[in-house]
Amino acid sequence: PPAIRKISEDHDKVFVTGCLEPDTSKPRANAAFVVLARNKELDGVIQSIKSIERHFNRWYHYPYVFLNDGDFNQTFKDTVRNYTSSTVEFGKVGPEMWGYPEWIDHKIAKEGIAKQGDAAVMYGGLESYHAMCRFYSGFFYKHPLLAKYEWYWRLEPEIKYFCDITYDPFLRMIESNKTYGFTIAVKELRETVPNIFRYASAYKRLNNITSQGLWEMFVEPKETPARPEDDPNFKPPLPEEILRAEPGRGLPEIDPEAMDGENYNMCHFWSNFEIAKLSWFRSKEYEAFFEMMDRSGGFWMERWGDAPIHSLAAGVLLAPRDIHYFRDFGYRHTTIQHCPSNAPARQLPREPYLESTTTDEKIRTEEDEYWEQWDEEKENGVGCRCR
Ligand code: GDP
Ligand code: MN
Repeated sequence: PPAIRKISEDHDKVFVTGCLEPDTSKPRANAAFVVLARNKELDGVIQSIKSIERHFNRWYHYPYVFLNDGDFNQTFKDTVRNYTSSTVEFGKVGPEMWGYPEWIDHKIAKEGIAKQGDAAVMYGGLESYHAMCRFYSGFFYKHPLLAKYEWYWRLEPEIKYFCDITYDPFLRMIESNKTYGFTIAVKELRETVPNIFRYASAYKRLNNITSQGLWEMFVEPKETPARPEDDPNFKPPLPEEILRAEPGRGLPEIDPEAMDGENYNMCHFWSNFEIAKLSWFRSKEYEAFFEMMDRSGGFWMERWGDAPIHSLAAGVLLAPRDIHYFRDFGYRHTTIQHCPSNAPARQLPREPYLESTTTDEKIRTEEDEYWEQWDEEKENGVGCRCR
């Protein structure tokens, strides 16, 4: 959408253009990689470490923090340590950060999850996935092992970086006064977040927050042809079960006027990659946002991901200038990837943000063609070191 292109063009530039020798001259930032994982994901974790070490961390040596709601076994720890010379810490996520909060009715939440399973909502029937999303939405930054850090870079099992990252993105974020960095933005599966936008929107309204220009990135343009649920007058029901389950502590009834007839366009930063400032998550504003979202029960009665939560929080609390689009990072997670366009001679044949990535077969072919051309340019010394 034009508004998004404008945000990207007006407020955010690629940090480094062209190919550099790794610049390690400056001291490191106070930052770490954060990896939530389970023992059974060891192979995927190794793949990710190998990739980030090869393309970045063999020069920069940022530490890793591994978190798990269970206990990492010795094999996991030993193997991980084998693949990096950096400091590695392993931590456990306690029940206060994982699973049902004490104020929720477990029976109702479990029924809600079962229902999502029956409705084939992606991961909707998986209690642990709900817990994971809630942890990444409102808790990871409070984990004791992260207390000493100011910045983090999220890493997941089975991801891949394609290009050498020859500058320190944390330092660039700091220098440019950025708060949140992403490399892929995609559309959320509507059925996982039917009510999320009502609550985010209500938070914004109830706290008299005026958009600083980022909120619009998440709002469906009014002139878009509407499906019934896109009609500004369509009001999906509030998850009443939760309000009933928690009399007096649930979300206040939302004034229908409070939403200005706005609808969520489903856009969100894909949070499996994130470089961000922890103090933002630790701010009282983010905390209040999370608290309100959490109290609605949406992490259980719906399957709210941490990606739309982080994104809508940014929409409410941040400005376009606070966001950095790492368009120069070659990154892949499962079926969705982003190929960079930081070579001065060339632009990717599509718009940044939403259209920069896709699972669509046709576009993937385009991506492949792009890579072939990229390789040719690399031979000619124009591109960066991508493979
Ligand atoms: P997807 O990327 O949305 O398909 O979901 P993943 O299965 O990759 O999960 C997202 C992240 O959370 C990954 O880092 C997983 O390792 C982690 N994760 C998901 N579920 C659990 C869980 O039950 N326990 C732990 N310790 N980590 C989990
Ligand atoms: Mn994943």
